[in-house]
Amino acid sequence: MTQSLSHLIDGELVAGRREFDVVNPATGAPFARCPDATHGEVDAAMGAAARAFAGDWSRDEAARRRTLVAMSEALGAAADEIGRLVCLEQGKPLAQATGEVRGAARLLKRYAEEPIPREILREDQKVRVMVVRKPLGVTAAITPWNYPVATLVAKIGPAFVTGNTVVAKPSPFTPLSSLALGAVFRAVVPRGTLNVLGGSDEVGAWMTAHPQVRKISFTGSVPTGKKIMRAAADDLKRVTLELGGNDPAIVLPDVDAAQVAPRLFWGAFTNSGQICIAIKRLYVHERAYRPVVEALAAMARQVKVGDGLEGGTELGPINNRPQFERVQELVDDARRAGGTIEAGGAPLARPGYFYPPTLVTGIGEGVRLVDEEQFGTALPIIPYSDVEDALAQANRSHYGLGGSVWTADIARGEEIAQRLECGTAWVNQHIETGAFAPFGGMKWSGIGRENGRWGIEEFCDLQVVSTRLA
Ligand code: NAD
Repeated sequence: MTQSLSHLIDGELVAGRREFDVVNPATGAPFARCPDATHGEVDAAMGAAARAFAGDWSRDEAARRRTLVAMSEALGAAADEIGRLVCLEQGKPLAQATGEVRGAARLLKRYAEEPIPREILREDQKVRVMVVRKPLGVTAAITPWNYPVATLVAKIGPAFVTGNTVVAKPSPFTPLSSLALGAVFRAVVPRGTLNVLGGSDEVGAWMTAHPQVRKISFTGSVPTGKKIMRAAADDLKRVTLELGGNDPAIVLPDVDAAQVAPRLFWGAFTNSGQICIAIKRLYVHERAYRPVVEALAAMARQVKVGDGLEGGTELGPINNRPQFERVQELVDDARRAGGTIEAGGAPLARPGYFYPPTLVTGIGEGVRLVDEEQFGTALPIIPYSDVEDALAQANRSHYGLGGSVWTADIARGEEIAQRLECGTAWVNQHIETGAFAPFGGMKWSGIGRENGRWGIEEFCDLQVVSTRLA
């Protein structure tokens, strides 16, 4: 055990009364302890956030923007230290972990500058009618284990610029970087505006049922998202739900297999496939099928899988034992259903949760690896002969997060992309989220959007101010 971090409650670092182990997925062994919040600590954090909201914070926009700039600078300065924690608890390669933290620092700066819309609908001699955005109050921000820093900051940024206060709870698999974030931000945020609690799933449930919470911003799985929506219903708390995906990618016959293969590969396997918007089902026209499968298999065999701390590692382990077992289970099920393993197919013979990139052919709809979200290093590749049929299969899913079309004909690609039932449809790329565009899902993949002005709206209620002038 090397370290134990504290909750941030009402501006103070509070050692937990109880703790649990945090495991390094590259070794499978515990390396740190995380405080597990009690009911009393949840109440204390909520009370602090409510008091902070009632103070100047919700009214002083200029001060909030200065705070976000200071947070951005503080996080940038701590990027190496927090990046190392992300690498140790999440498993991703160190450079990517540090990159995640630096990206989060830039995002805070961006939110510091993002305008809050204010519209005048009518203004004449008689009347002025304005629409203004009002913050909601205490926000419960609950995050998963794949991008612990990026997902948390994507909630704090818009919540803060609009004047809300936050009680955050990271995943119990990756809590340390969020607690470290709390310790870094403590020096620059007004007391009580940000509280960070370590805790199990149960703590998340207490938070979402808490009477002082007005807004729940959640990123995680569909089953938990549904529970949260139920928990929110009685009190009509506002919810934003960023949930799972089963993104299809449709490859048309006119592609150059050698050219698209690297982009398809990293679209599926970046962060060891643990990305909500990774390619999770690959549909390839029969004329391009074998060349694409072979180019991907060659990459899968060459890519360096290893401990994120080791130089040269391109893919780290699966983050946690249940997810590691789930990936194995889905691949074994596909094999039993008649699937052919083109690369990978078994865990690495070493400690830790290492499962190499695995490509499965010979399966289709009705097999779990195709129908369910694998969230790991396994990809089904399915041939088709008619693009209408590929589109129908792609859309026949409860999920609707992302999807992509790959072709030399850009206009046709954009036309087909718009027929995908998903929140982001790409052409000749996947995962790319650079433009501060609205991010979120259709169908079971979520409710609401994050990023940019759409992210801002999720943390506000509308108020009409209507003034009789004469
Ligand atoms: P999860 O739903 O198991 O857990 C997410 C968080 O919710 C954790 O902090 C957990 O402790 C908490 N939680 C669990 N039960 C709760 C409850 N009843 N009430 C309140 N909080 C509760 O998800 P996970 O396994 O950590 O993450 C993987 C999932 O997240 C995948 O489905 C992935 O696609 C999804 N994800 C979505 C996005 C997106 O933006 N759409 C981004 C990243 C991950």
